[in-house]
Amino acid sequence: MSFKSLGLSEPLLRAISKKGYETPSPIQAKAIPPVLEEKDVLASAQTGTGKTAGFTLPLLHLLSQRPVQKHRPIRALILTPTRELAAQVHTNVKEYSEFLNIKSTVIFGGVNQKPQVATIRKGVDVLVATPGRLIDLESQGLLSLKRVEIFVLDEADRMLDMGFLRDIERVMKLMPDKRQNLMFSATFSKDIKKLAYSILNNPVKVEATPENTAVEVIDQKVYRVAKGKKTGLIIKLISEGNWKQVLVFTRTKHGANKLCKKMISAGITAAAIHGNKSQGARTKALAGFKSGKVRVLVATDIAARGLDIPLLPHVVNYEIPNISEDYVHRIGRTGRAGASGEAISLVSADETTYLRSIEKLIDMKIEVEVVEGFEPDPNASTEPIKPGQNRNRGRGGNQNKNSNSRRNSGEGNKNSNRNRNRNKNRNRRRNSDNRS
Ligand code: AMP
Repeated sequence: MSFKSLGLSEPLLRAISKKGYETPSPIQAKAIPPVLEEKDVLASAQTGTGKTAGFTLPLLHLLSQRPVQKHRPIRALILTPTRELAAQVHTNVKEYSEFLNIKSTVIFGGVNQKPQVATIRKGVDVLVATPGRLIDLESQGLLSLKRVEIFVLDEADRMLDMGFLRDIERVMKLMPDKRQNLMFSATFSKDIKKLAYSILNNPVKVEATPENTAVEVIDQKVYRVAKGKKTGLIIKLISEGNWKQVLVFTRTKHGANKLCKKMISAGITAAAIHGNKSQGARTKALAGFKSGKVRVLVATDIAARGLDIPLLPHVVNYEIPNISEDYVHRIGRTGRAGASGEAISLVSADETTYLRSIEKLIDMKIEVEVVEGFEPDPNASTEPIKPGQNRNRGRGGNQNKNSNSRRNSGEGNKNSNRNRNRNKNRNRRRNSDNRS
């Protein structure tokens, strides 16, 4: 199987070989032919499978075969959940279209809209966008989707997780009914299937190798540890193992910041990346990490989606996710492009239930180790922390818990309810902050 045999045009083949790709990845081999046949496609694929080229290459092929229109209306729209993913996809679009007469740009929130509008005014064929900024510019009359021929919904599951369903429905109404639709998702919940049904017309279904097989090639290990000793343990592992490039996942943005500060105090260069960081700060953190200047990148799940970090040797779950599929996404960051990787999880007593459900999902038992001096607390409760509590805890770790209880002492339930509500609102606000 070669890219040529898939029927891609010569300028695309040239760009592909410039990127150094030799053979199509499984998702590319499966998705490219039906897209070239102008069919709707529903693809099951996660980041790291080469899915971006899977939709971008045939999309560019089709557009470049059609006559260039006056004023260059937007003919293809690629919608992504996060700014990072949008930027990443656009970089790919630019690279693959280098030898074609195709113009493209990317728009997302958190940055000045003026340069984005100026580029769109000059005419673009392919627009990569996050939903918020797209709808914003459209409602200001600064762009039109009335001439869209191909629509790509990337990481549809994450779109729904981030609460973008309404926005997607709105975007759908802005495009002509007659168009080709491609939808990519790593997971297929009932809601995703419903969304697929409403967007796609008689789609061809394609699937990359099931996620579980990818999991088997990654070295996974669990360190059982007392909650309060996790920071010490991670610093020890990174320092003594002399790990140079480590992606660390925390459950909350606050947790990411806090851990990042502790790493820096311990003399390990680190940066945090999450939804509350400005676009500039995120780009800088990622660039530093990629270049090797920053050893540790601490990220939340949402921020990490769409990061293109090749050949990542170490992934650490500082806290394991309560959604088992997120574990698969996280550790999928190692062992990319055939390189082997190591995924480590620091698990405290209250995370036991989550660990069990992850093991059930991946259908394997993960090897457990205990490091001397960082033993688990034998008296700690194995009662799982509820998602709401997680976030509280993340905001201040155990300290926060203590300060809350100090604040609450003697003040009864009323106050703790008030605190809970306050935190609920905070969480709601924070969730909406995450949207671009
Ligand atoms: P993606 O899943 O689209 O995020 O792609 C994951 C990584 O694989 C990116 O770094 C791509 O540049 C790379 N990639 C995509 N297609 C191929 C291919 N056919 N051969 C080698 N690398 C690829």
